[in-house]
Order: sequence, then C-alpha cells, then structure tokens
Amino acid sequence: MLHYIRLGIASTAVAVALTAAPAANALSAPDSAEAKNASAVVTIRYDDSRAAGWEAAIAAGVASWNSNVDNVKLVEAPPGTRAEIQIVATSGWPQATLGPVRPGGRAQVQLGQQAVTDGHDKTRIAAHELGHNLGLPDTKPGPCSQLMSGSSAGTSCKNAVPDAAEQARVERAYAGGAASRTPADGRMLVDAR
Ligand SMILES: [Zn+2]
Repeated sequence: MLHYIRLGIASTAVAVALTAAPAANALSAPDSAEAKNASAVVTIRYDDSRAAGWEAAIAAGVASWNSNVDNVKLVEAPPGTRAEIQIVATSGWPQATLGPVRPGGRAQVQLGQQAVTDGHDKTRIAAHELGHNLGLPDTKPGPCSQLMSGSSAGTSCKNAVPDAAEQARVERAYAGGAASRTPADGRMLVDAR
C-alpha cells in the first residue's frame, strides 16, 4: 500500500515536470491542453509570385506571425505547388479573406497600393492582411499596439506585431487542429480609408 502511495506521488511529480517544461518557453502561461497542442503545428503555404514590390514587406509580415504564434506557421510554397494563401498586389485598397484558413483551404490577400499612397507602412499592411487569413477581424478604431486596428492607428504606426490578445486568438483558432474542423468565414474584408 505504501508503495502505491509513493508511486502516486512520483508520477505526479513527473507530470508536473513534463507540463512545466514547455511552459517555460511560452509567452503566456499555457495549461496542459495548450502544452499538448504545441506539438500539432499547422502549416499554411502562401504564394506571393504576383505581389511584385511587396516581397520584403511580406517576408517581414510572415516572420512577425511565425515568431509570435506557435501552432500555425506560414511558409512560402515552392514554385508550381499549391498554396492556401494567394497574395497579389493591386492598385486598390488592401483586403483579405477572413479565415482561419485551413490546410488545403483557400484564402487571398490583396496588397493594395492605395493604402501605401495614403502613407501606411507596407509591412504592417502585409501582417494585418495575413491576420485576417488567420481568423482575426478588424479592431478599428484601435491603438498602434494592435495589429488589427489597421489604418485607424494612423500613418505613423509601423507596428507589425500582433498583441498578446491577437496572438492568443490565432492560437485558439489553430489549437488541436481546430481550424481543420471549423469552416473559415470566407468573407472578404476591405481595408479602405
Ligand atoms: Zn483589416
């Protein structure tokens, strides 16, 4: 009987150690379910071959998302292969499909020159529109600290990093393959002035 009690204590200690390890690397305090889901990373591919002039902004916007969320990663699709996200440059207003886009799904980002002409930062635009694909709606008006406040933060705002709440919402959308079970919204959100 004493052995059982000791074993019980020992396995509790092991379980605590196992869940504590991934928590040390996370920005927010994850519960054990989040720690388990951290291993299930969803990969979403993008094709920016029709977004001439936006390459650096797209790369920076993608890097911002990839370094701030853990369970979904944006990767450039090799030439000739299928991509979930089609990124194109246009002369109009930026706009994007409201996700969360699923693996094998379809979403679009239009990087509109009109917003650049108005003085808005290209990297913030790219990161914002990708945020729509990842399931985030606009939060306008809002502060510069929010990525999804978009143009309402003014042309001086160059923040391309989603805040903690925005990161958490995307993490929830992709946790445990959730984005594969929930249909993407699919609406086109237009970021006009
Ligand atoms: Zn928007």
